[in-house]
Amino acid sequence: MKQSTKTSSTSKTTSKAAAPAKSTKKSQYVYNFGRQTDGNASMRELLGGKGANLAEMAAIGLPVPPGFTISTEVCTYFYAHDRSYPKSLAADVKTAVGLIEAQMKKQFGGKDNPLLVSVRSGARDSMPGMMDTILNLGLNDVTVEGLAAISGNPRFAWDCYRRFIQMYGDVVMGVQAADEESHDPFHELLDALKKSLGKTQDNDLNAGDLQKLVTQYKELIRQRTGTAFPQDVYEQLWGATGAVFGSWRNERAILYRQQYGIPAEWGTAVNIQAMVFGNAGDDSATGVAFTRDPANGEKAFYGEYLINAQGEDVVAGVRTPKPIAAMEKEMPDSFAALEKVRAKLEKHFKDMQDFEFTIEKGRRFMLQTRNGKRTGLAAIRIAVEMVKEKLMDQRTALLKIPAESVDSLLVPIFDTKSQKEATLIGKGLPAGPGGATGRIAFTAAAAEIETRKGNKVVLCRTETSPDDLKGMLYSQGILTTRGGVSSHAALVARQLGKVCVCGAGEVTINYEKRTLTAGGHVLQEGDYISINGTTGAIYKGLIESADSEVKRVLEGTLKPEKSYTYELFQTVMEWSDKYRRLRIRTNADTPAMAEQAVAYGAEGIGLCRTEHMFFEGDRIDYMRQMILAVDQVQRTEALKKLLPFQRKDFVGLFKAMAGRPVTIRLLDPPLHEFLPQDDAVRRQLADKLGLPLEFVIERIKALHEENPMLGCRGCRLGILYPEITEMQVRAVFEAAALVLTAKTPVPVNPEIMIPLVGFKAELADQLAIVHRVAKEVMAKNNIAIDYIVGTMVEVPRAAITAEEIAVQAEFFSFGTNDLTQTTLGLSRDDMGLFYDEYQRKEIYNKNPFASLDQTGVGKLMEFAVANGRKSRPDLKLGICGEHAGDPDSIDFCHRLGLHYVSCSPPRVPIARLAAAQAALREKK
Ligand code: ADP
Ligand code: MG
Ligand code: MG
Repeated sequence: MKQSTKTSSTSKTTSKAAAPAKSTKKSQYVYNFGRQTDGNASMRELLGGKGANLAEMAAIGLPVPPGFTISTEVCTYFYAHDRSYPKSLAADVKTAVGLIEAQMKKQFGGKDNPLLVSVRSGARDSMPGMMDTILNLGLNDVTVEGLAAISGNPRFAWDCYRRFIQMYGDVVMGVQAADEESHDPFHELLDALKKSLGKTQDNDLNAGDLQKLVTQYKELIRQRTGTAFPQDVYEQLWGATGAVFGSWRNERAILYRQQYGIPAEWGTAVNIQAMVFGNAGDDSATGVAFTRDPANGEKAFYGEYLINAQGEDVVAGVRTPKPIAAMEKEMPDSFAALEKVRAKLEKHFKDMQDFEFTIEKGRRFMLQTRNGKRTGLAAIRIAVEMVKEKLMDQRTALLKIPAESVDSLLVPIFDTKSQKEATLIGKGLPAGPGGATGRIAFTAAAAEIETRKGNKVVLCRTETSPDDLKGMLYSQGILTTRGGVSSHAALVARQLGKVCVCGAGEVTINYEKRTLTAGGHVLQEGDYISINGTTGAIYKGLIESADSEVKRVLEGTLKPEKSYTYELFQTVMEWSDKYRRLRIRTNADTPAMAEQAVAYGAEGIGLCRTEHMFFEGDRIDYMRQMILAVDQVQRTEALKKLLPFQRKDFVGLFKAMAGRPVTIRLLDPPLHEFLPQDDAVRRQLADKLGLPLEFVIERIKALHEENPMLGCRGCRLGILYPEITEMQVRAVFEAAALVLTAKTPVPVNPEIMIPLVGFKAELADQLAIVHRVAKEVMAKNNIAIDYIVGTMVEVPRAAITAEEIAVQAEFFSFGTNDLTQTTLGLSRDDMGLFYDEYQRKEIYNKNPFASLDQTGVGKLMEFAVANGRKSRPDLKLGICGEHAGDPDSIDFCHRLGLHYVSCSPPRVPIARLAAAQAALREKK
């Protein structure tokens, strides 16, 4: 997702120079849309996504209520100037309001025919529900009477007023629920009033009831804040505008930006727009629709609406809306019109759209459109099918798929048998595909605590709000009892790639008792629950998961023609391979891993960690014997026993890779990692090796290091104990000889990699051993083996002295895990204490161990590449750190001109797509 957010924003925006701002003398802060439209879809940097698309829709003749956008530059100004505005803004806003008044033939603050507006936020990339919107602004004790009179519907007028006071009270004046478990104070008053009147639905309240409610709301605000609810409409407008700008820095917006890598500097725009009313009666409605199914990508009209309702009612999940299909019967004209809008939007925006509409007394209005958030599966299906439909070409389609989303085709689903045996306790709407099992958590906080304990959780709530984002991130899946497929829960789940079942009406959650009741079963917080986000089914207890269809096809247990998912996967992979320049390798230590990676498309091994081969069975004991040896004789003795094991492993690996390059890194970790820490095991080891226990204990003590990450490891080991290097290299070449001379010979392509080199002399020392042993083995077997020797670049000194090092190294492989640790002076395992604070303060935009620190570590890499090439123009270049599976980092590696990235086997497909995207982006 990160990927797409960034690319869509950078690729779609034109520079500010394109905006009229530069051509007028004074800065332009306000952009109109409606009869006069100043902006367009390409101006999202300046107008935010919402504002830019409102302008675009207005320009192509869709019915958009008139309004204007205050640009993101004002947001920047606001924060740079102690939360104040540019001088000219007030006058510009007045003029723009005047334009709306003229078009609507209503007066803002007018007592006969008052104009009401909405004040809406809109960042460059949509941040659904992250910032606040205020509706019906412009109502006060006087204008409400005017609205009642002119509409002939006092109930409607008072309903608008109470909604406005509630939103304004909450967003601008800060009258909110005390914590996660208490209710919204406005809702409490509303519920109490309904109860006292014996009414159940909001719609049962009449004008008089609502008028009473307004009085109570105003009183609540006065009590909580000590100030009165403002009656002046411009005071309201500036209050709301300030709140929208202010919300850019609220906690949940910050969290959201971190999740999606959105820079804090971008800022939000503010959209002020004439209100249209979906709550004007039973011939009115409001809704949200997608031009295709955002959960599975199917080309079907998808969405929902509520009759006689306003805005947030649909998204907030307060009432469960009707599926859009029901509109065909209920409001056939509007349905037909929306179908036309649906086609027009896709044709114009060339992507699946998520749009918001309102029907006021049979008249239809468009309030928003944006590229719809979708699940990974849907992203892929939509892209592939839109190419078939000639709505876009392959290149565009590839750029539209967030690389990470390929993962959703590969993740496990529920095991069919286990699911059949499970107890079905209810059903909801399928909103985020896949299967999730975990313990029930009723609050975001509980989800976080349980997950930190190492448990999997399913977050179960009546409905979610933006404040639950953190809890949702921690959960395997999300279950809600209210709200439909465009509710907050569904929207966020789709975006996060979480399994989600929403609107499960028969399920009841009791927060006080901490129980979930469904189908006659009562579950407690902490009990296991399983949800299937593909079907909507809810089960009691744990359900085993099973391999995805793609995996089964690749393993040969499912016929490819039986799986549309596989067809989609294959199509995207084929297209990707066509456009990418980077080669994709994998980090694998065993033949099984290597085979899986090759099935996923790996073109070589970029990192085989030989130490992983030492843990199995008896090997660990020989390894320990080698480590505990007091002299070279003893050590050579033990190494002799390890040699056949290691040789056998390499034979397996070479066979699995069938001539593809295999980079073998010599022993790297500090030796104590192989030694037992607990006394019983130490005793056993002493017995087994026939050594006195005290001796073993002493040796282990002697090997202790204060900071093993920076101690005797990497090539330092091989320099200290050359016989280790010798054994490993012998194993490699003997294995190569065996495979090459087997009855059915297999080609081999070994690349020996020396770890943690910082001095050219270190490399020279180890290189001498490699070449000598290689020569010996080749001579003995009378065979030539093609091989190269290179080094890992993982300490700054190696990067800085790249020119010297490349004289002898035939390749560089950037070990960015250690290179990040050593460049930042930060141990990956020791960032726990301050990491959260760093995130909160936005010091790290992203975790530097997950996504390459391009401006720091990246600079070193750039330097190493340039200088390494000075001594060796054909220097082979790759990366084998964790970052090699991260799309943003892959993009960087592409730009750096590396030859390959090497990631873990499951990330190979993601890397293939990300590499193609990097190449396509470069061409743009
Ligand atoms: P978000 O960014 O959270 O989606 P919006 O700014 O889109 O917030 O506002 C939420 C909802 O409020 C919209 O979906 C729409 O239904 C309603 N709304 C906003 N502006 C208007 C308007 N001018 N007239 C009628 N309804 C509006
Ligand atoms: Mg919206
Ligand atoms: Mg390393």
